[in-house]
Amino acid sequence: MSAIPRISLKAEVTEHLRSVFLNKEVLAAVGLQEAELRFQKLLTCLSHPPSYTCVRASTHLAPLEGIRLRLEEELKKQQKWISSPEQPSVHVAPHPRITDVLLLPVDGPRQVEQLSSEVVVGAQCGSAVLRGAHVFAPGIIASPKYMKAGDMVSVFSDLEGRCTRGATSFQGNKVFVGNGVAEMDRSAIFATETPARGVGVQMVDPLYQSPSFDGVLPSLVFLQNLPSVVVGHVLAPRPGEWILDMCAAPGGKTCHIAALMGDKGEVVALDRIQNKIDRIRQNAQMLSLQSIKAYCFNSTQAVSDEPKQEAKGPPFPPESFDRVLLDAPCSGLGQRPNMASTWSLKEICSYPPLQRKLFQAAVRLLKKGGVLVYSTCTVTLAENEEQVAWALNTFPCLTLQPQEPHIGAEGMLGAGLSPEQLCLLQRFSPEVNWDQIETTAPLAFRADRDTIGFFIAKFLKT
Ligand code: SAM
Repeated sequence: MSAIPRISLKAEVTEHLRSVFLNKEVLAAVGLQEAELRFQKLLTCLSHPPSYTCVRASTHLAPLEGIRLRLEEELKKQQKWISSPEQPSVHVAPHPRITDVLLLPVDGPRQVEQLSSEVVVGAQCGSAVLRGAHVFAPGIIASPKYMKAGDMVSVFSDLEGRCTRGATSFQGNKVFVGNGVAEMDRSAIFATETPARGVGVQMVDPLYQSPSFDGVLPSLVFLQNLPSVVVGHVLAPRPGEWILDMCAAPGGKTCHIAALMGDKGEVVALDRIQNKIDRIRQNAQMLSLQSIKAYCFNSTQAVSDEPKQEAKGPPFPPESFDRVLLDAPCSGLGQRPNMASTWSLKEICSYPPLQRKLFQAAVRLLKKGGVLVYSTCTVTLAENEEQVAWALNTFPCLTLQPQEPHIGAEGMLGAGLSPEQLCLLQRFSPEVNWDQIETTAPLAFRADRDTIGFFIAKFLKT
């Protein structure tokens, strides 16, 4: 189908994932052949980008249709959209059920001829290019010795992080992601005194064609994966409420929550890393949201045992918040495209204990009658359904709730949850329909199926 190989993982991680996807309950339900096929499709689809781009529109600032039309106008100005014969006009479609989502088709994989001049970028940068980004100078690891601004180059992603910074060529494990025009000389990119900033290579002929949103209507559209937007709606915050977002940076969901509340009430956004807090504040400012209060804080310690105080910052007294979002730090194995991960099994298995500590704090901080949403962007059972089973056993005050909208599949078998409980969970499983979705299928049909791997559970505290 394309030049992109399936995701490259450490052998121990592949084996672990295989045992998860071929667990006893799954085998009993669908049989070995189907379970194995789904697992193989998972490995393939993870390295490919979804076939559309999803943006969340700032409907707290303007009506969706107005934003849609302005976005079409802005994107038409992008040179590559005008020049591409396969993509003669820009079509931005509203999602039929989610009132603040706009969808754009991604054209790819395209036939692109490789050039003799090669620029090598890091794997993260390569994945961003596959989703429509240009190459920013800090992402460049190697370039031709005499590369000058204006040269046409082929861009490759270094899958295993083996390329030496400043190299002039690289023969290791790399994947072609498209062609572009160098915006800087090599000497400027690798200058030692002042590290280069800004676009290093403007992608003019990418393997996957999708618009670059850099600087496009920054206050009105926000790039966000569809399941992440679903999280905000499932939490369903109301104007005037006090909401806690425990692991908030860079603030995509925090800003969505504030927007859904009409910016009335307060969203407390915590994250453990200070410079990520700055990102939350920048995003809130860009989207004209005043109701967000961001603090650098370890959320496992966000519950105070002191009596209620005046100060509104963390730690907070138990039973403070109307709703809590725990968008947990996770192994991130649902992210797409992800062409390679160098993580060990030990690293992947380090997340469930941290998620449980955060979950304990979340339950204590939630008011009785309040709503807790737990989400991850990973596909493992241990970080998803097994956490739900643990939570229901550990906190009798919690009950699972239906989710609206529910566009993902139900939870995965293997954690001992009942069929009724699995139906209440939302698991986005791109592998299920991978290779069956026609690129000609309506955008909304594809959008609900061809997502990143994601998981959402909603609880009520009684
Ligand atoms: N919700 C975010 C969004 O939608 O933009 C993405 C959150 S990301 C999945 C997880 C975040 O948890 C990271 O930014 C990480 O720094 C933060 N984190 C990890 N451990 C934490 C802790 N103990 N307390 C607070 N934040 C933590």
